[in-house]
Amino acid sequence: MSVSNTGPFSWGYCLRVLALALLPITSVFAQSGTPVAARTSATPTQQNPSPQQANKDAIVVVLGYHRFEDRPRDMLAIHPQAFREQMQTLKNRGIPVISLKDFLSWRKGEKAIPARSVLITIDDGYLSGYATAWPILKEFGYPFVMYLYTNYVNVGGKSMTWDQLREMRDAGVEFGNHSASHDNMVHPKKLKGGNYQEWLKNELFGSKQILESQLNVPINTFAFPYGIHNAQIREDALKNGYVAMFTVNPVPIRFSSPAGALGRFIISSTHPATFKNALRALEGAAGGIAVHEARTSSPLITTEPKNDENIDNPLPEIKADLAPFGNVQSESVRLAISGFGPVSANYDPATKQLSYKITRPLREKKITVFLSAKNETGPVGTTWTFHYDPKLKTTPR
Ligand SMILES: [Zn+2]
Repeated sequence: MSVSNTGPFSWGYCLRVLALALLPITSVFAQSGTPVAARTSATPTQQNPSPQQANKDAIVVVLGYHRFEDRPRDMLAIHPQAFREQMQTLKNRGIPVISLKDFLSWRKGEKAIPARSVLITIDDGYLSGYATAWPILKEFGYPFVMYLYTNYVNVGGKSMTWDQLREMRDAGVEFGNHSASHDNMVHPKKLKGGNYQEWLKNELFGSKQILESQLNVPINTFAFPYGIHNAQIREDALKNGYVAMFTVNPVPIRFSSPAGALGRFIISSTHPATFKNALRALEGAAGGIAVHEARTSSPLITTEPKNDENIDNPLPEIKADLAPFGNVQSESVRLAISGFGPVSANYDPATKQLSYKITRPLREKKITVFLSAKNETGPVGTTWTFHYDPKLKTTPR
């Protein structure tokens, strides 16, 4: 039952996951209705201003946990004491923990939330969520969300029973869907000769129905197994009842973050820095803002080709000036390009210039570049898209 990806918390892993989904990510940005909240949000000229209007400058960091064990041996487990200390750290630093309900009301533009807050999620439905984490969370009075995959409910072993889940529900614990089978939703390993579309429908909606009928609560958020997703899955989900989809991409959530791919910081004993990074991303404005700006192609960062630029050179050199990101750690700089995946870019810490020459001719018309790095305040990054049109001939060559 263990979810066996290793290293989803390294930028390298994230880039691999992002590289899988680079093109779809941009289409989510462009997709109408996304981000939902931003499209329906109030403006200063709206007719019924309310003190409860969403504060668009708020930032939420989502923490993702799995199992709570006295001898945590893998990246999905955390020692209960370490978990307790993290909850205490939130309390000591005055960081509020919000409920999924409040998070979604904020996303819809209907409610203000604390300027900097945390949402706690626990994936997979392991018994330790009920027996170990819940009592600790109760002590602190923190709300949290359980992301369940229905094939692993009520099946013995370390799984939870429906009765236990109903007990949690009655006490105010919230729930979301984590699929039916927990398989890779883009390239399912267990689907041998079956119909992928039917399978996917069951992963997204069959499991949703089971959770809703067993728990008698609406299920309208989803956590992608392994964080893996694509544009089809996101669009299908958002068109059919889901309002928030969570990845394992460790970035804070802004009001404008696309609903189809909301970041989460997955916390475990084997990657203790992730919790610190999450708080840094929350509290350190530079990290948070930079990552946020990345979502709409950062106006801070000068790139070549520019965002939305049309080019006719099939072998362009990709460039970015990282100076606005401050003291970027050279070894943390990662570049991925749609159609190419992660590439080895040159980064000169003296000039803060990043460059990468495309090595084989572009074929896709739309190319997205994903850049990430770390500075002293945490993760920073930017994403931009340019267009390749061989017939353009804007520049004589
Ligand atoms: Zn999982």
